Amino acid sequence: MADQAFVTLATNDKYAKGAMVLGKSLRNHKTSKKLVVLIGAQVSEPSRAVLQTLYDEVRLVDVLDSGDTAHLVMMKRPDLGVTFTKLHCWTLTHYSKCVFMDADTMVVANIDELFDREEFSAAPDPGWPDCFNSGVFVFRPSNETYGKLLEYCTEHGSFDGGDQGVLNGYFSDWATADIRKHLPFIYNMSSIAIYTYLPAFKQYGTNAKVVHFLGKTKPWSYTYDTNQRRVRGNVQEASSHPGYLLEWWSLYSSCVLPLKQ
Ligand code: UDP
Ligand code: MN
Repeated sequence: MADQAFVTLATNDKYAKGAMVLGKSLRNHKTSKKLVVLIGAQVSEPSRAVLQTLYDEVRLVDVLDSGDTAHLVMMKRPDLGVTFTKLHCWTLTHYSKCVFMDADTMVVANIDELFDREEFSAAPDPGWPDCFNSGVFVFRPSNETYGKLLEYCTEHGSFDGGDQGVLNGYFSDWATADIRKHLPFIYNMSSIAIYTYLPAFKQYGTNAKVVHFLGKTKPWSYTYDTNQRRVRGNVQEASSHPGYLLEWWSLYSSCVLPLKQ
């Protein structure tokens, strides 16, 4: 059987930091899968060098832009156009099955069991649970699917201006067709759940296997005091649980920063 891989994407140095922490967290939890990072031309040489030490494959991709700037502006997230680059992951046909993970995710347990799932598996989006969140998903690389996805983009665009809109449009039977393709929320636990449903977070949050720092403020938007081991900035304002934010930063400062020297 051909290899299986975790795949992420970083088009610039900021998201590259996220990819570094994600890669390190997967290694720390002893994944047996290959690690692939798709990078954009903007990623600097020093960042690429660090990514090379953590990932089996660092692959440069052309940044596709949705061109749907009206939608993007509407969502006040002009940066999301680049997430179309995500679709490139379907071209990794030297792998039989992959799990895509956003660069703003971090694993807190081994999640190799996700490879038992089929395309297209993903967890519900906390904002609109009949849609899946495209931060973590199981897929099968295929040039045919890639072509169809691009065709879908051209014809229908994206209802949210980003990859999540395209993918939900294309895999539109996800909500109803097969419950096995609904990943449990613990595989893509966005911190939003903490304040939208605190009792559930208290009950189930400790089972989380993947934390997703979804939203505008990312872990790397804060600063970290290495001596006091504290995150600086308005942590209360963070869309994420301060404990996970601290975990992200301690991983970054103890495992990633030394690689940069
Ligand atoms: N991404 C990137 N560069 C960007 C914006 C996004 O590489 O400028 C990638 C990165 O992997 C990121 C994913 O696209 O995790 C989705 O974007 P983001 O996580 O910011 O969206 P959110 O999860 O907050 O909706
Ligand atoms: Mn994300």
